[in-house]
Amino acid sequence: MSDVREIIVEICHLLAARNFTTATGGNVSVRLPDGTCWVTPTRLHKARVRVNDLVRVDAACRVVEGARSASSETLMHLAMYRARPEIAAVIHAHAPYATGFAQAHRPIDTAASSEAYFILGAQVPLIPYARPGTPELAETVGAAMLPCQKAYLMANHGVLTWGDDLWDAYDILDTLELCSQSLLVSHLLGGAVPLPAEELAWLGSMH
Ligand SMILES: [Zn+2]
Repeated sequence: MSDVREIIVEICHLLAARNFTTATGGNVSVRLPDGTCWVTPTRLHKARVRVNDLVRVDAACRVVEGARSASSETLMHLAMYRARPEIAAVIHAHAPYATGFAQAHRPIDTAASSEAYFILGAQVPLIPYARPGTPELAETVGAAMLPCQKAYLMANHGVLTWGDDLWDAYDILDTLELCSQSLLVSHLLGGAVPLPAEELAWLGSMH
C-alpha cells in the first residue's frame, strides 16, 4: 500500500470533516515521479473515500490503475501539472467562505493578515468561469497559473490550492478558508486594516 494514497484518503476525510467541500464535490490529486497521478474518483462522498477507490491516470488522462472512474476534473489537475512542473499535489474544494468571494468575483487581498500574507502571498486571484468538468475549464485554469501563486478562486465555483506535497496544499487551503472567514468578519466590523508596506515587505522576505 502506498503512503501517498493513505495521505490522499486522510485529506479527503479532513475536507469532509472541516466542511471544506460538498459531499461529492472537490477533488484531490498527487503527481508521482513517473508522471502519473493518483486522483480521487468521481461521485464518491469525500468522507467515504478509501485507498482502493483511488484512480491512477497517466499524463494523457488514461486510467492505468483502479476500478472506479477518475474525477470529472482530472483534466484540470493535469493542466495544472503541465503548467507548473514543480508542483506535486493539487486540491480543488468548495470551501464556503472562500467560495463566497469567488461567487462575488472578489479576489482576496491578504494585506490585513500577517499569516495569510506569508502563506498565500499578497493576493488570491480569480480565474474566470468555465463549465465544470470541461476541457475549457482545464485550459482556462492551466493558462492562469503563475509561478508566484499558491491558490486561486474559481469564479462561480470554488477554490484551487497546490504545493510540493499534499499537506502543503492542505495548509494553503486551510489558511485561505480561515482568512476568508476573518475578512468577512472584518468587513462587518468596518473593514480590514492592511499592514504597513514595510511590514509586508518584511513578511515577504521571510520565505
Ligand atoms: Zn468543483
